Formats: sequence, C-alpha cells, structure tokens
Amino acid sequence: MIDLSVFETKAVIIKTQDFKENDKLVWFYTEKLGKITAVVRGAKRSKSKFLALTLPLCYGEYMVYKGKNLYTLQEGKILNSFQGLLDNLNKLTYSSYLCELIDIACTENEISNELFRNLVTTLYLLSTDALDYELLIRSFELKLLRSTGYNLTLDNCSICRKKISAANYISLSYYGGVCDECPKEHGLYISKGAYNALRFLMNISVDKLYRLNLSTEVKAEIEKVTTFLISNNYAKKPKSLEMLKFIKE
Ligand SMILES: [Zn+2]
Repeated sequence: MIDLSVFETKAVIIKTQDFKENDKLVWFYTEKLGKITAVVRGAKRSKSKFLALTLPLCYGEYMVYKGKNLYTLQEGKILNSFQGLLDNLNKLTYSSYLCELIDIACTENEISNELFRNLVTTLYLLSTDALDYELLIRSFELKLLRSTGYNLTLDNCSICRKKISAANYISLSYYGGVCDECPKEHGLYISKGAYNALRFLMNISVDKLYRLNLSTEVKAEIEKVTTFLISNNYAKKPKSLEMLKFIKE
C-alpha cells in the first residue's frame, strides 16, 4: 500500500531552529509542497545522519512524512550543500537574504515551481563567481515579486494601459510604469536607462544575466524600486542586507 502522507521532493533549507533537547525544526522551501516546516528528530546528536542534511542552505532530495501539524524528515540526500557560500561575507549575506525573502514572501504550502527553480539557480550562480552578485539579487527579487503576485507592468502604462516604450516613473500603487499623461503619485522617478534595465531584468532568465552590464547608478535606482516593493508588500521587512550596507558605508 502507498502511504499518501509521505512525500519526496527537492528542497532548500531556508531556516533552522533548535527544538526540544535533541531535535531541530527545519523550514524547507520545496519544489512540490512549497514552504513547509519539519521536525528532525535527533538532528542535534553528533552522530545523527541528519546533521549534514539539515544545515542552512542545503539543497537536497528529501522524504518527509506529513503529521498532524508538522512534517517529519524521514530521509534525505544532498544535491549541493552550498556550504562554500558561508566562507565569503558577501555570498553568505546574499544567500541568507534569498532564504529570508522566501520565508517572508511565501505562505506555507504555496507552490511555485518557477520560484523554486529561480532560488536554486540563483544559489548556484552565487556559489560560482560568474556574475555580478547585485544583479543576481535584483533579478531574484523581481522574479519573487512576480511569483507572489506583484508583477510590474512595464510595457504598458500601469494606469491607462497605453503601450509605452519607456517611462520615467514607477507607480508603487499600480505596480508599473506611468505614461506622460497619467498622474504621477505614490511612486518613484527613475531614469529611462533604469526603466529599460528593469524591464530587461524582469524578462531575462537568471542564467543569461551575464549579458547585462549596468552602471552603479542604474543598479542603485533598481534597488530602490525593489526594496520599496518588498518592504511594502510583505508582512515583514527583510533584515539580512542591513549588515552588508552598514559595512559598505
Ligand atoms: Zn497612462
């Protein structure tokens, strides 16, 4: 007989917490179940087979059992532990930020294959040195906003729907560009260069980002837009990047 409460899925560990004497609570962002919380029995024992499997950022194939309130981890296999990300402060901060964003933006059991794929690809690219970290993060932020219902309209005016080639204003209540005729309220002025870069970032897949080369100013403008959208649309504000900003200033 097949047990319907056992699931096998790929997942990334976005958060962990000690639980009782020897157990751990682990928040997984999974491909098939969305965000879930699982208890891992005996995970804190030094000889536990779960020790390596339940480190933050670990990406693996996991088998979980669905209980009344929580899932229980049964088995797992590491696909990439991404522990190399922990050796570099920038990488550590950015990867923690990705996990924090998923935690903040996704409700339990809300499934998005696209977002899951983007998270894994972004972690892979972050672990290589192939790309500008900031671009990678901005691209992830925009895709996260889209996957969670806050897609930016950039090809049409977000108010009157007229087709536009570029704009110099992003409305934060209509989620998109505003044409020359429509009122510019509750939003941000941005350069046309930043507007076009934003559109490019939204439409291009993460692994093609190397084609994009942006100035520091344009990157800062884009960051302003994504930061605003993220801090206003989700219940909690992410904190992971604060330390990095503090160090850089
Ligand atoms: Zn308009």
